[in-house]
Amino acid sequence: MKRVLILVRVRAVIFDLDNVLYDEQEYIKAAYRNVAIFLSERCCFREEQIYQKLLDDFQKKTSLYPHLFDDLLTDLGLDKQLISDVLKIFSNATVNLELYPGAENLLNELKQQKIRLGLVTNGNVETQRNKVRLLGIEKYFDTILYARELGRENEKPDPEVYRIALQALKANPEEAICVGDNPHTDFIGAKKIGIRTVRLLRGEFKNVRLSAEYEADLEVRNFGELSKIIAKNN
Ligand SMILES: [Mg+2]
Repeated sequence: MKRVLILVRVRAVIFDLDNVLYDEQEYIKAAYRNVAIFLSERCCFREEQIYQKLLDDFQKKTSLYPHLFDDLLTDLGLDKQLISDVLKIFSNATVNLELYPGAENLLNELKQQKIRLGLVTNGNVETQRNKVRLLGIEKYFDTILYARELGRENEKPDPEVYRIALQALKANPEEAICVGDNPHTDFIGAKKIGIRTVRLLRGEFKNVRLSAEYEADLEVRNFGELSKIIAKNN
């Protein structure tokens, strides 16, 4: 069934973080390097071997797979207890992160138009908080929601986190647009409660195609196209 876009003035835009506002690879590479250094001092594998293995495993399993580091410890023959240290190192990496080109302009532009902005992100809360801090983007958002704080069952695609975001942004679903990159998680829940969805074709899921219910209402390749869509509705 083809969804019909209802043209209502946009009052709120809810962004996803990873691969929407910045390139997640930049964070992952630096954080994996730190993990590799830490583990190489505790086993017979070299830092470079561990780093490459992490990159390969990530490529194969994608960011949707939750046990990458557990598997790594097993594969390296290391004590599973090290997982808490590894997660700490990964979550607290100091990386020189930058927003995608045009992101800052877009966020400023939307703020000037008095559009309220939300950020909704899945994943380890400590890691996501660290990324937000490294990017220095708190100032742009009226609300930032770390979905896992509500419990894993309320992470995207569950609609609950969007309901909370809408409440914080004082917007009805039809007045909001949700921008994401990952069709597994970013659109189906938002669509269920009537939020319009836009997919940025970027990052590790760029070429992934799922059934219609998982896909966004619209697709764009960059922030210029997104800005035009919002302007057209306003
Ligand atoms: Mg994402």
